Amino acid sequence: MTTTTEQELLARVPTGLFIDGRWQDASDGATFAVHDPSTGAVLATVASANATDGVRALDAADGARASWAATPPRRRGELLRAAFDLLQERRDDFALLMTLEMGKPLAEASGEVTYGGEFLRWFAEEAVRIGGSYGTNPEGTGRTIVSHKPVGPAYLITPWNFPLAMATRKIAPALAAGCTVVVKPAELTPLTTLLFVDLLREVGVPDGVVNVVPTASAAAVSEPVIADPRLRKLSFTGSTPVGRTLLAQASQNVLRTSMELGGNAPFLVFADADLDEAVTGALAAKFRNTGQACTAANRFIVHQDVAEEFARKVTERVAAMPVGRGTEDGVAIGPLIDDRAVAKAERLVADAVSRGAVVRTGGHAVEGPGTFFEPTVLTDVQPGSEILRDEIFGPVLAISTFATDDEAVHAANDTEYGLVAYAFTEDPARGQRLMERLETGMLGLNTGVVSNASAPFGGVKQSGVGREGGAEGIAEYLETMYTLTPDPFRR
Ligand code: ADP
Repeated sequence: MTTTTEQELLARVPTGLFIDGRWQDASDGATFAVHDPSTGAVLATVASANATDGVRALDAADGARASWAATPPRRRGELLRAAFDLLQERRDDFALLMTLEMGKPLAEASGEVTYGGEFLRWFAEEAVRIGGSYGTNPEGTGRTIVSHKPVGPAYLITPWNFPLAMATRKIAPALAAGCTVVVKPAELTPLTTLLFVDLLREVGVPDGVVNVVPTASAAAVSEPVIADPRLRKLSFTGSTPVGRTLLAQASQNVLRTSMELGGNAPFLVFADADLDEAVTGALAAKFRNTGQACTAANRFIVHQDVAEEFARKVTERVAAMPVGRGTEDGVAIGPLIDDRAVAKAERLVADAVSRGAVVRTGGHAVEGPGTFFEPTVLTDVQPGSEILRDEIFGPVLAISTFATDDEAVHAANDTEYGLVAYAFTEDPARGQRLMERLETGMLGLNTGVVSNASAPFGGVKQSGVGREGGAEGIAEYLETMYTLTPDPFRR
């Protein structure tokens, strides 16, 4: 049940739609409930936007478009920086709210405030570095002036697993570039976005620049917004099937798109790896967010000579991981987001075991209330097991083995995804060969965490299109144009 501190926080969270600088009900008065996955309790009742509300939010974004694009970059950056500072002051509120609506342990939620906040600081700094160029053409007869302009109103759809960071990773570069936005947070975790948008209002982001439409009807709200010719950009983070649907919708108006989709990350451990470091990296790459991350290591592919030692060491650590509500001291494994996630983990473990995998620890759902699954280690996972193809999105560490580097690389690349890979080896030349051979947007070389606001996060193959963070992140919200003019000395 919720404590007094939790209730006080929940009472401060806005629960409406935020359109043109005003909190409001849905036009038909509809609402939906947000639950605590660790207890099943209702945390809040939130306004549920309909298709008309979505278009009204786009009206507001379009109305603010020209003035925001004309706002000096320094001013845009300073607003983002003010949001960063206020977020630090309120970090405990944001951390607790994420733990309540999403379930992650409080220490991890606090880590997400740091990570999510860094996008505000990074893009506050990038806002004033939108460059251009002036050059002489090869013939010497003309000059080419290349400039960048905000692409225009953007629709941002975020997932439930990182409620703050996925919002700031999109909102900050959009605002830095001079784009206005409509945000559609995940229906499972809208509260963090609502509290964050209120913080943007408080620091002085002008009306209409950021609009938010929580809704229980994601498709019904999104379709007309995406089909509206005033929209110029779609940025989505979520599953590959939904990404495909949205890409098809975006093709109608040839929208600019950024898509951060699913992953199936390999985690390679070579015989020359520092095994203790590999184990620590494995725990971070697998169990952060209770395994519910697109960057989560999905397939542990370990050299046969060290596989047993790696499995023994990792099992010892995993078996000791405390499971519980994220607000409890020392908890490492929170609940999964819902019943479906638990059923999926159960199904994948059962399939792997039926094909010969061995359960070293865990393997079962935990009885409710709450949607918990035991942290699990499987060894001897056989080729053809569903767990090697499907994104697990749960606390299950599945180990298979390899004999040669070629075999390891082939196994790692044997997926339609290509978001992130992890590799542990003490041989720098081997690391460099992996960098060249792995089909992936990101590589954690001797580390289990790759996310950083200053780096261009994103995937290859069916893991997505575009990059978030780094210098690339702001480019996703800018158009490039050039002006060609004759050599002024020859006219
Ligand atoms: P997950 O499996 O992680 O829940 P989804 O891809 O289903 O990922 O959801 C990610 C985001 O996409 C959420 O905000 C969700 O509401 C939204 N979403 C899901 N289906 C659609 C759709 N057809 N159109 C627009 N948004 C959608």
